[in-house]
Amino acid sequence: MNIKRNILLNPGPSTTSDSVKLAQIVPDICPREKEFTGIMKPMRDDLVKIVHGDPDEYTSVLFCGSGTICIDITLNSLLDEGKTAVVVQNGSYSQRACDVIRAYGLPLVELVQPLDKAVDLEYIDDALSKIDNIGYVYMTHHETGSGLLNPIREVGALAHKYGAFFITDTTSSYAMIPINVYEDNVDFCMASAQKGIQGMTGLSYVIGRRDIIEKSKDFPVRSYYCNLYLQYECFEKTGEMHFTPPVQTVYAAKKALEEYFAEGEDAKWQRHMSVMKAIHDGEDRLGLKEVLPRQIQSGLVSAVRYPDDPNWDFDRVHDYCYERGFTIYPGKIEALGTFRLCALGLIYPEDIEGFWKVFEEALTYFGIEIPVRYD
Ligand SMILES: *Cc1c(COP(=O)(O)O)cnc(C)c1O
Repeated sequence: MNIKRNILLNPGPSTTSDSVKLAQIVPDICPREKEFTGIMKPMRDDLVKIVHGDPDEYTSVLFCGSGTICIDITLNSLLDEGKTAVVVQNGSYSQRACDVIRAYGLPLVELVQPLDKAVDLEYIDDALSKIDNIGYVYMTHHETGSGLLNPIREVGALAHKYGAFFITDTTSSYAMIPINVYEDNVDFCMASAQKGIQGMTGLSYVIGRRDIIEKSKDFPVRSYYCNLYLQYECFEKTGEMHFTPPVQTVYAAKKALEEYFAEGEDAKWQRHMSVMKAIHDGEDRLGLKEVLPRQIQSGLVSAVRYPDDPNWDFDRVHDYCYERGFTIYPGKIEALGTFRLCALGLIYPEDIEGFWKVFEEALTYFGIEIPVRYD
């Protein structure tokens, strides 16, 4: 089978290998058969291994849904009665977390920080010291909307200093930026198969401390479908998801994990960084300006400001590139015209060189000045 290879520069779903795509094509199977459930136990261990957890202390719980399901599940399931949720809010994904907490009507303190600067740890420390009964502190590791990388290790330590546990949304960093749950003070993290492991959409997972999950048995159940303990209990007892799993996506994830471990944590991260270097080199050559200084970027997402050229039109440039196999993505920073170029997925610096050729062609075709103009 010959499958066209598209270079996705959007922040996930990302470019995958043909072997992962083809792993979805399996004989029909009832997911309650041992042949299928037998795949999930080693998969759960592998997901813990990626962040260097001891499987006796950390576990992973799989869900059928996009990445946001893990935000919903951790936030609604891990807050005990009488406790307050604290969210460091400095981007569109931590904003989403706040929206989730509000939707459940739970007590929330937002620690709002600028979108384009490193968080102020002294401010966080001081603010936490003044909040009573913190249940958890939540932070997005990599704010995918802007590309900002947050200091989870430091903020995790602060959460622990005030007796709270630390939840971090690592959806757009997990299996890319090396994470160690012990060194990084992570009690819970999360991801989705279409991002770091280079699998398909529809399977997401929470990775976290068993003792806290066990304790959360006595916390209020606020959702029937999206409850961490209930799904964990089901996995522990039966090895299965409570309800129908995304069968073909699970097969693809199994293959993707094999390929993840074959490539290796360090080599994979080096590859992503070399892709981002090729992205940065092209930006510098064409005079494109980014929103964030490079020192505080994740190395996975570059948010580029729209040029001020009157002929610039994101949609037209997007379509030109798309027709030639390259997908660029609008930004997510309100009040700023931006687009994003991302280094997720199974892509290489050569793919980015190919992209810049097409992008430059598009600029010329639409009469946009090179180097691009900013007023
Ligand atoms: C992609 C992503 C998610 C999940 O988004 P979905 O559209 O629900 O898959 C959550 N958090 C971050 C930081 C992300 O990048």
